[in-house]
Amino acid sequence: MAHFLLDSQRRKKLDERNERRRFRLAHDPEYQAKQDEDKKQRRLRYASDPQYRKKQPESGHIWNTRKSQDPEYVEARNASKRSRYESDIEFRRARQRSVEKSRVRLQAENPRYRLRKSLHQWCLKHDWVRETLPWKTHQPVLFASKVHKECKGCTRVKVREGVKLWWRKIGDRDESWLCHACHMPMDNHTAAMPYGYEDVTTLEGIINRKQELERTAKG
Ligand SMILES: [Zn+2]
Repeated sequence: MAHFLLDSQRRKKLDERNERRRFRLAHDPEYQAKQDEDKKQRRLRYASDPQYRKKQPESGHIWNTRKSQDPEYVEARNASKRSRYESDIEFRRARQRSVEKSRVRLQAENPRYRLRKSLHQWCLKHDWVRETLPWKTHQPVLFASKVHKECKGCTRVKVREGVKLWWRKIGDRDESWLCHACHMPMDNHTAAMPYGYEDVTTLEGIINRKQELERTAKG
């Protein structure tokens, strides 16, 4: 099990160190929180500080950079990682955890994803959201249990197996449905909000806007 360019002794030391860190991460919530916070700070700094960003490529050691430009080295390193991924279950799990974590983080920072989740919650919890807001092309319909409809936009497995919330096309004699995800445009997600609510992202915001709009309509 020679890992690429690492002699067995160094590999052993690294493994031991990683094992200690993993153990601490799993058992010490404070350490875990600090690691997460440090990462977040680095990310924020990277996003907001051009000077810091510029320095990043240089911070890889010259040693590192030179090797990373050598295709043979890169291929061998990748092959080594692939074989370790196949054979080392701990390594594989750690990798999967890390990928999952960054997926969750990316989603949490994605405005479309956030609005999609919130809108789903509001439609599930509040009848008045579904029934009284001025929806544009489709109206949300909540079923007591998961039902199957044909989504005009996709053939997602989850949708095929049935969901509780569907969006029915307004003013169509024949029923025409979209699933929750397809109802929210990829390029302009706020368009899924009702007329006059496009800039609103919280339930409190919806309540306030509704009162405002009703006051305007009366006055
Ligand atoms: Zn769909």
